[in-house]
This record gives sequence, C-alpha cells and structure tokens, in this order.
Amino acid sequence: MELYIHIPFCKSKCRYCDFASYAGQEQKMSAYVDALLEEAAVRAAQLQYPQMDTVFIGGGTPSLLPAHLLDRLLSGLKELFPLSPGAEFTSEANPGTLTCEWLTAAVSHGVNRISMGMQAYQPELLRTLGRIHTFDEVKESVALCREHGVKNISLDLMFGLPGQTEAQWLETLRMALTLEPEHLSCYGLIPEEGTPLTADLKSGRLSLPDEEAERRMYDAALALLHSHGYEQYEISNFALPGYECRHNLGYWRQIPYLGLGASASSMLRNTPEVFCLRETNPPSLEEYLRMCRNQAWTCRETVAVSPEEARFETLMLGLRTTQGVSEAAYAALHRRSLHEDYGDRLYPLMQQGFLQHQDGWWSLTRKGMDVQNAVLVELMDD
Ligand code: SF4
Repeated sequence: MELYIHIPFCKSKCRYCDFASYAGQEQKMSAYVDALLEEAAVRAAQLQYPQMDTVFIGGGTPSLLPAHLLDRLLSGLKELFPLSPGAEFTSEANPGTLTCEWLTAAVSHGVNRISMGMQAYQPELLRTLGRIHTFDEVKESVALCREHGVKNISLDLMFGLPGQTEAQWLETLRMALTLEPEHLSCYGLIPEEGTPLTADLKSGRLSLPDEEAERRMYDAALALLHSHGYEQYEISNFALPGYECRHNLGYWRQIPYLGLGASASSMLRNTPEVFCLRETNPPSLEEYLRMCRNQAWTCRETVAVSPEEARFETLMLGLRTTQGVSEAAYAALHRRSLHEDYGDRLYPLMQQGFLQHQDGWWSLTRKGMDVQNAVLVELMDD
C-alpha cells in the first residue's frame, strides 16, 4: 500500500497553480499537523495498521513546515504505519524554503528522496510563473540535500510557457542536468481556469508557444535526456536506471493508496461489490480541519469505481508508462483477459501504428504518444 500526505501551505501562490495550496496560513500549521495525525490514527485503525511500500509528502510546500512540526508529524505517522524494508520515502520541497533543520528532521525519519520544483532556468520565465526562487537557490538546495545524504533527487521542469523559446527550454534542461538529478519530470504547461496566468493569456497580455513548437520542445527533451542516460518511463517522467518513482508507478499500476490531508484522495479496496472506493477529502483548509476536529468523516466525497471503469483505468493509466499494460497483470487484477475485453480495439490501433505489442505488454508507440487522448477515446466503451 502507498501513503500520500498533503501539506497545503505555500509561501506565495504561483500564477499558474490551481492545487489546494494556501499562502499566508502559517498560523494554522500546528492545528493542521494535529488534524493529520487525528485522521491518520482513524485510518490506521480501519485499515489494520498497513505496511507502506512508499510514502509521498506533497503539497503545497512541505519544506515550509517548521522542522519541529515535521518532526511531530513524522514521529506520529511512524507509530501508525510501519514502512516496508527499503521503502521509498519522498518529500516535495521548494527552493527558497529548504533549511538545514528541515532536512535533518526529514532524513532522520527516513525521507530518502526529494522532489524539487525548479520549473525554468531564466529569471524572466520564473517571474511569469510567479515562482519565488532563482536557479542559484535551486542549486543551493540540491547541494544541501546532498550534504544531508539524499541520494535520490528529482527536479520538476515546465515547457510550453508563455514567451518561452526552444533555446530557453534547452538551456533549462542543460542547467538542470548540471545539478545531476537522478530523476526529472518535464510537464507541458496546462493553463488552469481561474489562475492569474490564464487571465493574462485570455486578455492577450501573454501568449503560448504554438502546438508545433511545444512538440519540438518535448522531442528535444526526449533526445537530450536520453543522450545523458535518462530513460523515459512515463509520458512526463525520466530517470537514471533504477530511480523511477515507485510511488507514481504505483498510481499507474492501481496499487491501493491512502491519502491524508486537505484534498487528498484514497483508493481503497475494502468493498467486495465494487473494484474500489475513491474517497477525497475536502480541499478547503477550514473544512478539512473541521472534518478532523468533529470526526465527520462522511464529509469525504466517495465514489465507487465499478469493475468496468476499473478495467478501462488499467488501460488508461498503464498506457501512460513506456512499459505499458501487462496482459498477465490485467488478468490477475480483473480475472478477465485483456484480449477478451479490448482485443477488437487494440489490434486495429496496432495496425495503424499507435500501439505495439511485445512479450505480453501493450504500449503506445512514439506516434501513439503524440495522440494519446485520441487513442484512449478509441479504446473507451461505446
Ligand atoms: S509551490 Fe507548488 S503548490 Fe505552491 S503555489 Fe507554487 S505550484 Fe502551487
């Protein structure tokens, strides 16, 4: 099983961000940690204190939590959820907030992977995004992680930004490579409704590179990262061999997970009639604190995922990864054959060059990756 913990505090709100994250709420951090531990205790008892294979602290900005609160949180969680031997334990951190004390607390509780948002190299692009840091601060934060013995560092980068040229994207990639991360995530910007950046795009104050330029940026990342020994294992994710993010691979392989905190989702298989229950906590900080204080767990939004929906999700999530969907894993999970369920759609897509089939695995070809959504629509039930 996997554990996700959401820390919804940020120093300031980035201009493109629509995550459940709040600036200027530092005074609620202590109560939030209490609420997390309250929720964790109830969940641990329900699930009979499950062993966790991976833990991921995301946000928000987990590195904004003061070290003593991080220490309190991780000490409490350790009592409730034993870690499997060799568990992957990631925390997100943002440059400009990472301190020696925070890292000391994190590492002492077993954090062995840090995922950091670098996003871009150029100060003008960082300003457009509303990021609070410079590249030099990313460099200092990576060095600090290394000094504290963190051997697995991931950097998040973004392409397709307003005003970004292909040359700037290549420079961002090259500068990220100078920091020798074990893992890189490269996301195309998706303008989200209601964000200041999207308002600027709508008003014409900013404009995005065209689709062709964005595709060239993506291709440039594939080529450059491959030439530096990084393997693409998912549409947006690249790793040195052995450093793929096990937590995220778990999501794509439908491993059950428990999510704690505001907006966090859980996927639990504790009901025989449906494939799983997906439960999502309220995104608002206040509502989440109230839910935990009053033990009002019915405030969670609960969706039952039917076996049919789960079968399509296996395909949809598996095809995000370069390894693809395993016929054997599909049969073990659903007690049905992939050929029986989807053979009439998979083979035509293979003949058209969008899918490949090798040693019992189905995966997207490079051509299929470019039109992934259209391929999934073809695979959907009528
Ligand atoms: S640091 Fe991350 S979570 Fe916080 S506002 Fe920026 S993008 Fe959103």
